[in-house]
Amino acid sequence: MKALLLLSMVSVAFATKRFDGEQVLRIHPEHEGHLEKLVRLERSEQSLDFWQGPTSLSRPVDVRVPKDLLGKVKTLLEKTGMEYTVMVDDLQQSIRMARSRHIRSAGFNFDDYNTYNEIKEQLLDFAWSYPSLVSISTIGRSCENRDIIAIKVGAAGTNKPAVFLEGQLHARDWIVSATLMYNIKFLLEGYGSDNQTTSLMDQVDFYFIPVTNVDGYAYTANDRMWKKTRCLNSGTACLGADANRNWDDHWHDTGSSTNPCSDKYLGSRAFSEPETDAVSDWVLENSNNLKAYLSVHAYGQYWMTPYGWTSAHPLDYDEQADLAERAVNAIRSVNGKRFTYGTFTNLLYAASGMSCDWAYTVAGIKYSYTIQLRDTGQYGFVLPADQIRPSADEFFAGLLVVAEQVAAEY
Ligand SMILES: [Zn+2]
Repeated sequence: MKALLLLSMVSVAFATKRFDGEQVLRIHPEHEGHLEKLVRLERSEQSLDFWQGPTSLSRPVDVRVPKDLLGKVKTLLEKTGMEYTVMVDDLQQSIRMARSRHIRSAGFNFDDYNTYNEIKEQLLDFAWSYPSLVSISTIGRSCENRDIIAIKVGAAGTNKPAVFLEGQLHARDWIVSATLMYNIKFLLEGYGSDNQTTSLMDQVDFYFIPVTNVDGYAYTANDRMWKKTRCLNSGTACLGADANRNWDDHWHDTGSSTNPCSDKYLGSRAFSEPETDAVSDWVLENSNNLKAYLSVHAYGQYWMTPYGWTSAHPLDYDEQADLAERAVNAIRSVNGKRFTYGTFTNLLYAASGMSCDWAYTVAGIKYSYTIQLRDTGQYGFVLPADQIRPSADEFFAGLLVVAEQVAAEY
């Protein structure tokens, strides 16, 4: 028994991917030639992980470079005259530092990053502590048979309009579930003690899925940089699809990859992944009530409207942008952080098969957004735990603006 235990501990230790000496570089392309070189580099060098890919001259490119390629990449940048800074000096150290410095106790800690099981326990705890305000449902199961859990937060009342928050489609966007868990707590503690929250919860229901890509998130314990789902792909050892390129709206149009080993793999068909399939079914079943759809990600500080697949503005753009502007103003009033709003394609790049476009076009939810939380690049995906609370505070201000709009309009 002891030998068996030791053996399993050793295999866990070996399974954890390390990032010693890896750096994240921020590159500033200055002309089209630079952009083309970066696009070619992204295509040809699979072991480079572009956190923010090359898109336009106005946006820097963030790329994670394995230790053995650092010399080669830096030489290339210097030879072509591209300016860059070292954003993350040693990724392994940043990952270690990002966890809270408090001694970890067993169980959920709002001010630290938690495991999938700890999050699940905390959701059950919310339901137990606030039975009249909370209900929990398992809306589906992942490839590895984990529960995908939705939590409904709202005061009693039938046929209320609702705001839906789809969290962490991408496994490595850790700040997302941490922020959403705090927001659930703010709502529950605010009911009966804060006038605005109480009034909103009387009028509006909130549905949260704090972790949608449950397998991917669980796997980030082994590989912190994992992004995709963990489903098997036929004919290759590479697992998973990009859960935000897998939705049935202009699927396979643009900005995704047909290579199952790519982080942008679109899946074998639209809704090939049980996670996106389950959420989309659930949204359609509830689409009469859902009046806002927030797909929450990291990082960059953006509040984006459809579309992702085209630079054309949607029919409802004026109303979508007006609400986005008010939401980012509310966010800014909390800690001074600036979020940029506009259409996804016009702010970032063209990409199709995303949940936000599907929610707007297919499910008919006018106020559909893709939101990228903190930061703008200093830490990227590896945001220190001491930023969880400020992120939660500012996002909550934006969420209340959305709920106010839904309450007033529907
Ligand atoms: Zn993401």
